[in-house]
Amino acid sequence: MRLLIMGPPGAGKGTQAAIIGEHYNIPAISTGNIFRLAITNRTPLGERIKRIISEGGYVPDRLTLQIVIQRLEEEDAKGGWLLDGFPRTVGQVKALDKELEAHGFHLDAVISLTADEEAIIQRMLKRAEIEGRPDDNEETIRNRMEVYHDQTDPLLEVYGERGLLIEVDGMGTVEEVSARVLAALSERLGH
Ligand code: AMP
Repeated sequence: MRLLIMGPPGAGKGTQAAIIGEHYNIPAISTGNIFRLAITNRTPLGERIKRIISEGGYVPDRLTLQIVIQRLEEEDAKGGWLLDGFPRTVGQVKALDKELEAHGFHLDAVISLTADEEAIIQRMLKRAEIEGRPDDNEETIRNRMEVYHDQTDPLLEVYGERGLLIEVDGMGTVEEVSARVLAALSERLGH
């Protein structure tokens, strides 16, 4: 099974991705987590991207694609995956299409978590205090939201036209949202 999860910053993609991944026994692969780890470990990739991430911009497609394709070739990803936070640009969609086609694979569904933006901005500010993420100050959060609308909103239409999009209300407790997501997936996929 090959799934994507999308949604504005702070909508809870990462949390839901982990639950869905566990449910279907597929790795939940988060580009944001890979990037943050690279920054923490001060790898060459981390050094190149730390400024971009701390300002809430997008890592260039070429770099992002390199990381994703490398990750998808790892053993645990051979049988399927859930991508969290990728693709985020039209260029990334095209690259993923090519990668899938090269292996004779296809996407099964794209989950879109919808959310009340002002509410999630407040939630992110709270999370910033707890987790201390460098990209969680108010200016960066608002910038991430703007970049999301500008670059990533159009992807919803692309996947909508392909009939792959499953919209799920992302507001509520983790359990409420995951119950909605799993019910919607099971209805769509028949298992
Ligand atoms: P996330 O944890 O998914 O919110 O991602 C955190 C940050 O990592 C984003 O604000 C971007 O700076 C960067 N990032 C994650 N995924 C991508 C991607 N697919 N393309 C470009 N930048 C990304």
